[in-house]
Amino acid sequence: MPPSSCSVLRPASDDLLREIESGAFEALSTEELLAWAVKTFHPRIALSCSFGAPEGMALLDMLSRIEPRFRVFTLDTGRIPQATYDLMDRVRDRYDKQIEVLFPAAKAVEAMVQEHGMNLFYESIEKRQLCCRVRKVDPLKRYLSGLDAWISGLRRDQGVTRTAIQKVEIDATHDGIVKLNPLADWKADDVWHYIRTNNVPVNRLHAAGYPSVGCDPCSRAIQAGEDPRAGRWWWENPETKECGIHVGEETEGSGI
Ligand code: SF4
Repeated sequence: MPPSSCSVLRPASDDLLREIESGAFEALSTEELLAWAVKTFHPRIALSCSFGAPEGMALLDMLSRIEPRFRVFTLDTGRIPQATYDLMDRVRDRYDKQIEVLFPAAKAVEAMVQEHGMNLFYESIEKRQLCCRVRKVDPLKRYLSGLDAWISGLRRDQGVTRTAIQKVEIDATHDGIVKLNPLADWKADDVWHYIRTNNVPVNRLHAAGYPSVGCDPCSRAIQAGEDPRAGRWWWENPETKECGIHVGEETEGSGI
């Protein structure tokens, strides 16, 4: 049975915290969870969609059936490929959807590039995390400060950094707002089955061997048999492969 539509404040109310701790959300189907989330939080909830992964597109399609006015945002780091911009425009047309596009602070990017160069991310983990912080983490923080909840397409089997995620969590990094991971228990095959069954548009780079598409200099195609996360920040160890938007403050870019 779906949890009650309790009175939610920012940060999350005690009622909601108890619901989360009870584990009630884990038993909900993805559609039930999304319907509850929209009913409870809209319009102070938004889907995070990179337009570079099938998970975000599946969620976008599901939400369009539940609440056509649902909000979706994306981070334009300034380094994403043309294929990703093209998919955004396809989504605008197909779903009649305005996309909230977040940009990094120009002054911060200018200062970083002036000091460290255009391709600093290849030089060290610290510099890669700095770039992710300036181009992704900080714009996300600014945006989420105006929401009560957000939705991600994370799945538990995507790598060692994601095995413990819950379907509904308190996001301590972002002022205790609610974070939903409705696909937490989905497998990659489940996502692609949904995409094909519902003819959902996806980034064309998937067909070129990219399991997910992030920034152009930090994403690559993989070979058959390679781990899907091998296509992102391939020069790093699996334990560090997060950009900082899905991790806590303690690992969120050590800065330089
Ligand atoms: S993924 Fe690469 S280019 Fe994009 S913000 Fe992170 S380090 Fe910078």
